[in-house]
Amino acid sequence: MNKPEVSRRRFLAQVAIAVPAGAALLDAAVNRAVAEDAALPKLELTDPSAKALLYVEDASKVDTKNPLAARFTPDQHCANCSQIQGKDGDAWRPCAIFPGKLVASKGWCSVWAKKV
Ligand code: SF4
Repeated sequence: MNKPEVSRRRFLAQVAIAVPAGAALLDAAVNRAVAEDAALPKLELTDPSAKALLYVEDASKVDTKNPLAARFTPDQHCANCSQIQGKDGDAWRPCAIFPGKLVASKGWCSVWAKKV
């Protein structure tokens, strides 16, 4: 009747080893992803895709006369867009629309959609 107790002890001992190791691996992966994001170049305003989508680094400078910006309202910026990635609070963050580049958290483009 002691066998299940030994097995339980062994299982708990293995979990006690595995959980911190898993957490350390996850922590290292997150830190690596953050470091990789920081190494990305900023999206150039002259980039053809950026120009086509009216990207600006400062949402207060959106060309509201352009029909592509007809949906723009002053509360819209990259930090509250559904396409933004990376860490809240960072000034420059990856964006799903411009892979491999960082966009300004205060920026905007015509693809903006509210983050839910
Ligand atoms: S898709 Fe969203 S986060 Fe990306 S540049 Fe446009 S407004 Fe900013």
